[in-house]
Amino acid sequence: PVPVVAIDGPSASGKGTVAARVAEVLAYNYLDSGSLYRLVALAAMRAGVALDEEPRLAALAATLPARFEGGRVWFDADDVTDEIRTEACSAGASKVAVLGAVRAALLGRQRHYRRAPGLVAEGRDMGSVVFPDAAHKVFLTASVESRAERRYKQLMEKGLPATMESLLQDLRDRDARDAARSVAPLLKLPDAVLLDTTSKGVEEAVAFVVDFVRN
Ligand code: C5P
Repeated sequence: PVPVVAIDGPSASGKGTVAARVAEVLAYNYLDSGSLYRLVALAAMRAGVALDEEPRLAALAATLPARFEGGRVWFDADDVTDEIRTEACSAGASKVAVLGAVRAALLGRQRHYRRAPGLVAEGRDMGSVVFPDAAHKVFLTASVESRAERRYKQLMEKGLPATMESLLQDLRDRDARDAARSVAPLLKLPDAVLLDTTSKGVEEAVAFVVDFVRN
């Protein structure tokens, strides 16, 4: 079977940056599964569907007119790369992600990314639900303080307002929600290796995963 590298972990752990770089180094395909949940939230807001209408949301998820091309995310003819990163889409994504029918509707689409020569898949349930037979599973995390600090720097660079206290609170709330939900909770699997990036740079984390895959 086509090899899969599953990288799961909490919000703002840096797993997106690391996973994308690992895919580049290995010349594997890359799946950012969180963007699919963000796209479902966007589709719902555009269609006027409430974020708790499970069957209608599942129908939107099953027919998402989404494409990933040249590092951009497209919804029909619109480039929505930046829009799906807004607070509204982040909050919406975490709401639709608790619905079993939405998760089920996205399952086949995610597995479709498994094509030669390999796939790096990033999210919360890559190693547990979507690719349980992945040859390599990584649980990538960092202390909540260092995750809040990284997000703070990103927001400052964009000139957006933020305080460390509110970012810390927000991450703690999200961690609790991700861990406590009844469908696909985020957990460290017994067969995953732990990569704590609290005091590691991106390139060091990338080298760790690449070594793990190659050895
Ligand atoms: O990773 P990202 O922040 O883009 O994920 C957006 C939302 O989608 C999060 O709230 C997360 O809980 C959810 N998600 C998920 N399963 C995944 C990827 C993301 O439930 N595999």
